Amino acid sequence: MAEGQIIKALSGFYYVLSEGKVFQCRGRGVFRKQKVTPLVGDRVVFTATGEAEGYILEICERQNELVRPPVANVEQAILVFSAVSPDFSAKLLDRFLVLVESKNITPVIVISKIDLLDGGMKETIAQYVRDYRRIGYEVIETSTVTKEGLDELMSHLCGRVSVVAGQSGVGKSSLLNALRPDLQLKTGDISTHLGRGKHTTRHVELLAIAGGLVADTPGFSALEFDHIELDELPYYFPEFRAYGEGCKFRGCLHVAEPKCAVREAAEAGDIAPYRYGHYLSFVAEMKERKPRY
Ligand code: GDP
Ligand code: ZN
Repeated sequence: MAEGQIIKALSGFYYVLSEGKVFQCRGRGVFRKQKVTPLVGDRVVFTATGEAEGYILEICERQNELVRPPVANVEQAILVFSAVSPDFSAKLLDRFLVLVESKNITPVIVISKIDLLDGGMKETIAQYVRDYRRIGYEVIETSTVTKEGLDELMSHLCGRVSVVAGQSGVGKSSLLNALRPDLQLKTGDISTHLGRGKHTTRHVELLAIAGGLVADTPGFSALEFDHIELDELPYYFPEFRAYGEGCKFRGCLHVAEPKCAVREAAEAGDIAPYRYGHYLSFVAEMKERKPRY
C-alpha cells in the first residue's frame, strides 16, 4: 500500500502521483463503498500492481472542495491582478479575497506586469502593496519580462496545492509558463490550453510546478457571494477583527450601528477607507439578494 494524490481523472482512470511517480489507477468499487466520487486533489491510499498501474483502496477525508474547478484539498489561491492592462482593481481583489477566505484557503496576492508601471501608477500600486501587507496578506510583485518576483512565487508554490485565479488577460498563463516553460500554455487563458473549450473544465488537471501542484483551470470564476451568510462577512476582512471587539453592540455588522469601532477605525484611516467602502458595498449586495428557501 502507498499514499498519493489524484492529479488527473480521465476515462475511468485516476492518475495518482506518489513520490514523484504517476500511477494509472482504477477504483474497484471503493467509491461506491465510501459513497464519494473521487476528485482531482483527493489524497488516496492505493496498491501498485505494476510500475505505473494500480488501484485505489481508500479516499482520505477532504480538507475542502471547490466546485469550479472541481478540486479537493486546495491549500492556496494565487490571486493574480495586473498592475496595469487591465488596471489594478482593489474592489475585485477584495471580492476574490472574501471568496477565498470563505473557503478557508490561504490567498497569495500577485501583482503582475509591474514592468509596465510608470510614474504616478507606480506609487499607487506601492501603496496598495503596503496596505495589503499590513493586513497580513502575502503580496508578490511579478514581471514575466524582467523575471522579478518569480523566485518568490516559486517558493510559495513549493509543497502546496494551489489554484490560480484572476481576470482573463492578467497574465496567469504567462506566469505558469515562465515557471515551467515546457508547459507552453496558450496565453489568453489557462482554461483553454490543449484546445479544450470552456465547458469541459471538469477535466481539471494538477500540474507539477515549482515543487507544488497547480490546477490548470482558474478558480473562483463565479464571483457571487451565494454561499456566504451576511454575518460571516466581517470575518473575511481580517483587519476588522482587532477593532470588532470594541464595537458597542455584539454582532455589530459595522454598517450604521452607533459606536462602531470598525467604522471609526476606517474614518481615522487605521483601516484603509477603500477596504471599508468595499465591505459596505458587499453588505448592500448581499442584502439585495433573493432570500433562499
Ligand atoms: P491570462 O488570461 O491571465 O492567462 O493572461 P496571459 O498570460 O494570456 O497574458 C495576457 C497578456 O499579457 C499577454 O499578451 C502576455 O504577453 C501579457 N503579459 C503577461 N505577463 C506579463 C508581464 O509580466 N509583463 C508584460 N509586459 N506583459 C505580460
Ligand atoms: Zn462595528
